[in-house]
Amino acid sequence: SPAIGVLALQGDVAEHRRVLDALGVRTVEVLSPDRLDTVDALVVPGGESTTMSKLAARYGLLEPLRKRVRAGMPAYGTCAGMIMLADRILGGTADQETIGGIDMTVRRNAFGRQTESFEADVRLDGLDGRPFDAVFIRAPWVEDVGPGVTVLGTVSRPGEAGRIVAVRQGVLMATSFHPELTGDVRVHRLFVDIVKGHA
Ligand code: GLN
Repeated sequence: SPAIGVLALQGDVAEHRRVLDALGVRTVEVLSPDRLDTVDALVVPGGESTTMSKLAARYGLLEPLRKRVRAGMPAYGTCAGMIMLADRILGGTADQETIGGIDMTVRRNAFGRQTESFEADVRLDGLDGRPFDAVFIRAPWVEDVGPGVTVLGTVSRPGEAGRIVAVRQGVLMATSFHPELTGDVRVHRLFVDIVKGHA
């Protein structure tokens, strides 16, 4: 069975591992290029993308990560992880680097000050139709996507209606929100199905 790595530089690593454990998937904490070589797929957790980017460079992981993603390794990023998988970012720090892979522009901290954190029902393509209770924490949104990217979900809150918060490009997936925090395993299950070649 496949091993899914969780990039363990920073962020909510344990929460992602817990959900994947619950789905019966073997997980590995990835903190080095050697470890990265042992995994079939990767989750990039939520946290702080500027810190994650710096640490990835410091641990010599940035180039190996880019190489694996280019070579077709499935990856799923939540929140800061979404930022890390974006080809282009807005509102980043001057030297902020990403792994990239998804042809999209992501705006950091996009939801305004009063709404830094909120929950909202999001309807996601590829799930069973029941809305997903999505938790947003200083979340980004996707400003634009290239032709190869499928929009899986948008928010419907007044003022922000239609903002893209979930995408897929081939075996790469990203959400602005944190399914690892709410006990609903459906988004992770979708990723596991992608990893197994079933979705
Ligand atoms: N605002 C954070 C960033 O820019 C992301 C927040 C999160 O992952 N919950 O990286």
